[in-house]
Amino acid sequence: MSEIAALAPIDLAATAPWLLAARQSIANAARADRFAQALLLQGIPGLGKAALAEWIARYALCDQPDVDACGVCPSCQFYRAENHPDLYRVGVEEGKKQISIDAVREMIAALSLSSYRGRRKVVVIQPADALNVNGANALLKTLEEPSGSALIILVAVRPEKLPATIASRCQRIKLQAPATAVALAWLESRVAAQDWTLPLALSAGAPLAALTLAAVPKVEQEMAQLPQLLGRGDADIPALAEACQKHYPAERLRCLEYWISERIRYGLTSAAPDAGAPAGLSAAVRRRHIQGLYGLLDEVRRARLLLLSSNAAVALLFEQVFVSMARELEWLRAASRRT
Ligand SMILES: [Zn+2]
Repeated sequence: MSEIAALAPIDLAATAPWLLAARQSIANAARADRFAQALLLQGIPGLGKAALAEWIARYALCDQPDVDACGVCPSCQFYRAENHPDLYRVGVEEGKKQISIDAVREMIAALSLSSYRGRRKVVVIQPADALNVNGANALLKTLEEPSGSALIILVAVRPEKLPATIASRCQRIKLQAPATAVALAWLESRVAAQDWTLPLALSAGAPLAALTLAAVPKVEQEMAQLPQLLGRGDADIPALAEACQKHYPAERLRCLEYWISERIRYGLTSAAPDAGAPAGLSAAVRRRHIQGLYGLLDEVRRARLLLLSSNAAVALLFEQVFVSMARELEWLRAASRRT
């Protein structure tokens, strides 16, 4: 997976086709001297929000930007050396689940000083949805009393967790998953000898999430075994949930979501083999099973959202999903015996 390791975030952001519109709108705003004071980058995981935040930071700090930062001016050199004096990053400290109020205060203190290079100051807050109430309030004050040369970039998977007072003071950049053909072409340009269809589908169309998923193909295989295991009725669900929460929990939930969606699709169209469902089900049983699958799909999607919140009890999320799946599959087994 050396090709994947070689993917520097800033280069990714500078070239990813699905980020082009965002890059252009930033460059256009800069040319018109209408740089926002605060930006909120949002979108599902795996679209490159963090990389885009870095790209915007370098761009906003560059002495002579064009469609991209110049890469050669003193500012760009500071950036490359990872010691730009006017760039601050605020994130969750190791072992913590939220951004500490102290980190926000330090950032605000730094913003109150004038720019070292006599230009702009840039702050990247990520994940902004990990700000707690105190941190958000402190940040709000800064947004309400802008210092002329500061740019604050917030990166959030769940922007609805931010207070509306903060979100409303930011210019939103909503990143969307690219068209499948665009994503597949890009993924194939990174790693050619691979069928990207399934990883991309499992990743809700987010190319970087597909890269991560493909780097851990075992996850896909393991999760493919799961419905059969749960359907037997004797699975050790707490142990399974505990194991699933440890490695790639988001990817695992995506695998489940994909499995359920495919099964609904087969059930609705009856066009393909029924993904392991017993043959010869009556129409009524099939209908009821599809309803059950829709319920499961909702539950898995809810779990995926909850997983993004910093204090989710992840093992419990898996356990609840597995219990529901086992119940549905056991019902189906009993119903198909009766028919
Ligand atoms: Zn430059």
